[in-house]
Amino acid sequence: PAFADLGLAQPLLRAVSEAGYVHPTPIQAQAIPLLLAGGDLLAAAQTGTGKTAGFTLPILHRLLEKQAPRRPRRPRCLILAPTRELAAQVLESVEGYGKYVPLKATVMFGGVGLNPQVRALAAGVDILVATPGRLLDHCGQNTVDLSAVEIFVLDEADRMLDMGFIRDIRRILGLLPKQRQNMLFSATFSDEIRTLADGLLNNPGYVEV
Ligand code: AMP
Repeated sequence: PAFADLGLAQPLLRAVSEAGYVHPTPIQAQAIPLLLAGGDLLAAAQTGTGKTAGFTLPILHRLLEKQAPRRPRRPRCLILAPTRELAAQVLESVEGYGKYVPLKATVMFGGVGLNPQVRALAAGVDILVATPGRLLDHCGQNTVDLSAVEIFVLDEADRMLDMGFIRDIRRILGLLPKQRQNMLFSATFSDEIRTLADGLLNNPGYVEV
């Protein structure tokens, strides 16, 4: 298929086309229609497969479809990544593919001051990319409000578990509204990941590349 046939909004297709993409990668071709339809997703995919655009584009599309009335805006999408480098890369993708849409994204990770992150949240954020520990720091200080999250992404879930984030992830899940769309991406699948996926995902579509 061509990108234009996947049903993505024009401003997203414009950004995709400017990035030089003509055809979706296999994971994008499978995941994007499923996610646009609102389904949960379990994806076996490594970095380099185009997975970031595979989840970022449908997220932007769905958030655009239903604009949030309230200001300042609270995060409607939460994307968890294991490291600050990965979190920063995901933010870069969200901002790149979202350059023509009026949605605000920000990233938070440890090792830097809390205050700039608090100010960014206070100014209104639609999409929040975070590492688990720093997100919980903000939750503990009541500087982030997760009560409007409609879409949740766990990226590189195997690395998250290797890094010992399972308890943090479970605490974060307990803070999210029950009604939401969920996605889990992992390069490998252990019993622990399957258990996490079973608890997180509702009747997920499965994509493997
Ligand atoms: P990712 O696996 O999401 O980290 O993406 C890997 C690389 O592939 C990134 O540099 C993207 O810019 C690039 N990429 C993603 N989707 C496409 C596509 N449909 N066509 C060409 N390049 C792509």
